[in-house]
Order: sequence, then structure tokens, then C-alpha cells
Amino acid sequence: MGNTDVLISGGGIAGPVLAYWLRAAGFAVTIVERAPAPRPGGQTVDLRGAGRTVVDRMGLLDRARAVTVHERGMAMVDRAGRFKARLPADSFGGEGIVSEIEILRGDLARIFYEASLPDAEYLFDDTVTGLDQDDDGVSVAFEKSAPRRFGLVVGADGLHSAVRALAFGPESDLVRPLGLYTTWFTVMEDMDLGGWAQMYNAPGGLVALARPGRLPGEVKAGLSFRSGPIAYDRRDIAAQKDIVARRFAGAGWEVPRLVRAMADASDFFFEPVGQVRLDHWSRGRVVLLGDAGYCPTPLTGLGTSLALVGAYVLAGELATCGDHRAALRNYDRLMRPYVSEAQTLPPGGVGGFAPSSALAIRMRAASMRAMTRWPVRNMLAAQFAKAGNIALPDYDLPALR
Ligand SMILES: Cc1cc2nc3c(=O)[nH]c(=O)nc-3n(C[C@H](O)[C@H](O)[C@H](O)COP(=O)(O)OP(=O)(O)OC[C@H]3O[C@@H](n4cnc5c(N)ncnc54)[C@H](O)[C@@H]3O)c2cc1C
Repeated sequence: MGNTDVLISGGGIAGPVLAYWLRAAGFAVTIVERAPAPRPGGQTVDLRGAGRTVVDRMGLLDRARAVTVHERGMAMVDRAGRFKARLPADSFGGEGIVSEIEILRGDLARIFYEASLPDAEYLFDDTVTGLDQDDDGVSVAFEKSAPRRFGLVVGADGLHSAVRALAFGPESDLVRPLGLYTTWFTVMEDMDLGGWAQMYNAPGGLVALARPGRLPGEVKAGLSFRSGPIAYDRRDIAAQKDIVARRFAGAGWEVPRLVRAMADASDFFFEPVGQVRLDHWSRGRVVLLGDAGYCPTPLTGLGTSLALVGAYVLAGELATCGDHRAALRNYDRLMRPYVSEAQTLPPGGVGGFAPSSALAIRMRAASMRAMTRWPVRNMLAAQFAKAGNIALPDYDLPALR
């Protein structure tokens, strides 16, 4: 592709994994990340199917296993905290809603960040503001750093991708909002979760989720609510916390305690839930990866696997094709079926996850109980296995350790 300097926007999950594999293939990689340091935070994400294979090929599976959070499964609780339904982790052979390798997103991001060092160059606290491409490369303008030229620019900058906005069009045209907002944050609270990820549904489409963290007393909280579009300032965390607190006022279970603790949470992350669907993921020398290109939503549990597999396939094609046009075509062709499958929402979609009425909440508990019984269990196990898997090409890239 001529100039083998690659710029990756976004140092979350997809960005550092791509950097790792591109370095292995001899590319020079720069990552620009808006945050001042690798972002911690988030609940557990699943490592399963092909995503887990990529981590294995990076030689990092043991490191990931070492920081696994051992959850017994997911339980639905009522206002008083009584279990109404449970999905034990081993219900689907470790490949289900709670998978065998559950790892905190922040831990995983840290592992990939470290694996991408020392060769990948990081520009923290900065963002791309302009892209101007011609036949030979892309001239990039940054908010803070001096302009530079690259052979390829990769947008791995999440749901609100700046690269996507510059090269593909406005977010309003490309992200399909699902009418759900979600927030994740960490609190230190003496909550006896008994090793279960506990989920409480309240009328009005409210969902509170509390999962055990890795440290004693650490609780990974998630609060989601159904809503039409809300105008808010993405940099004003206090205002976002206020939106969440007002929505959850009066909700039962442990919600008042979680909302109180949220005020001090330093890793608070608030986002509308939306799916990204594009007909193509590249324009010339600009390509999208992970949530920026094909966010499936957290409801599917497959966002991290898609990011991992996408990074591996993109790097493998760039390393072996010798021509960026052919590489980007192959990336699209190989990823498209996997992405389509992974973007299928679980039964009931947003309404199934965040039912509005008391009756619908009771039905949700009943259907969760049915999920562990034959034949529904076998059908779901097959569905999980299919969605999480892709026959990964073997690019024979040297792992770096
Ligand atoms: C703090 C945080 C917590 C999360 N928690 C969960 C969770 O609990 N459960 C879940 O299912 N998913 C969670 N996610 C989303 C999950 O990480 C992704 O769906 C998935 O792993 C795909 O990874 P990605 O690298 O494509 O996107 P992300 O992991 O979202 O990474 C995108 C990166 O791009 C950076 N970025 C954004 N805009 C710019 C810009 N303009 N310039 C430069 N950099 C930019 C972000 O700071 C971030 O580091 C979380 C994401 C974040 C950022």
C-alpha cells in the first residue's frame, strides 16, 4: 500500500489489538485517543468463540484468564431482592449470556494496551479533526498535534466515531438509536451479590444491573432506561449523572444506594444504545473497525468479539494482500456475515431487556426460567455458538511474544 504508516483513532479494544497485529506485520502505528490515558471502566465483557481465538493467537489468553471475574451466572431479582429467575454460567456450556471467560472491560483494555507497547505511538488527549485523502495517502489534522500524513486511517473510535463523521457522514444518518440509554460505573459498596450478576427490572423500562467486580467490595453497576432522544453535553458528566438519577428516582431494590454511590464514580460512562449499519466500511484509505463500523449494541454481548475479530482480519488482510484496496474488500467480505449474525438482537429486543409494564416484567422472568429448560436451552446454545463464531483465516502472522 505504499506508505505503511497507519493511524488508528481510538485506543479502546479494537484499536490496540489492531496495532498489535499490524506491528507484527511490520507496519508503523500511531493511535490517537481522546482520553488522557487508557480508559478504565465498564462491566464484564465476554470472551467467546472467535474473539477468544484471537486473544489466544496473541498469546494473551492466560493473562485474560488470570483476571477473570468468576460469576455464578445472571439472576433476575424483584424489588425486595428475591431471585425470580437464574441463568447459571454453565447453562450453555460457558458460551451463553454469562460466558466462561468474563473479564472486566477495563482489565481487557489494559492488557491490549500493554501488548501494543512499546512500538505503537500513542497520542493521548487528542482527536482527528480533518481528513484529506488522495491516491497516495491521507493528510490528517488533529485538535492538538501537528498535521501528519498516513497511508491508512482506521476509525476504531466507538459509537460516536469522529473518523466516521469525517469520512462517511453524520452520526444521525448512520447510527440507529434503539430508544435505550445505558450507564456503567464502579462503586465500592457492601452488597452481598453472592457471586451473581443481579438484574432488577422496574416498570417504565428501567433496568439496574449489579455485578461483582474483581476486588473485594467492588460492584460494577449498570443503569439503563428507555427513552426517546435526549439532548445532553457529552463532556458534562455531572449533568449526565443527574439525568440518570432523575430517571431512577423511586425505583426499588438497591437502586437508591447505587444512585447515591454513582455521584462519586470516577469511571462513569453514559451512552445511548445504538446500532451502526453501513453498506461498506471503507472509503479509499479510510476504514472503520469495531463499534465505529458495526456496533451490535451491548444487548448482544458480542461487541468485543466483533472488535477483536475485525482487528485480526483487517491486520491479516493488510499484511498479506500487498494492496490496500484488495485488503479492504476482503475485510468487508469476510466480516459481513459474522457482523450480520451478531447484530441480531436477542428475542424481544429492547422491550425484552427493559420491559415497561409489571406484567411484561413477570413474563420476562418466566421466559428466563424457560431458557434453562429443554428444548429452549438447546436452541439457545446453538444460537449462541453460531453468533459467536466465524472460521478465522490463519494469516500466520508472528505473535509478538
Ligand atoms: C469506558 C467504556 C466502558 C464500556 N463498558 C462496556 C460494558 O460494560 N459492556 C459492554 O458490552 N460494552 C462496554 N463498552 C463498549 C465496548 O468496549 C465495545 O462495544 C467493544 O469492546 C468494541 O470496542 P471498540 O474498541 O470498537 O470501542 P470502545 O471500546 O468504545 O473504544 C473506543 C475508544 O475510542 C475513543 N474515542 C472516542 N471518540 C474518540 C475521538 N474522537 N478521538 C479519539 N478517540 C476517541 C474512546 O475513548 C475509546 O477509548 C464500553 C466502552 C467504553 C469506552
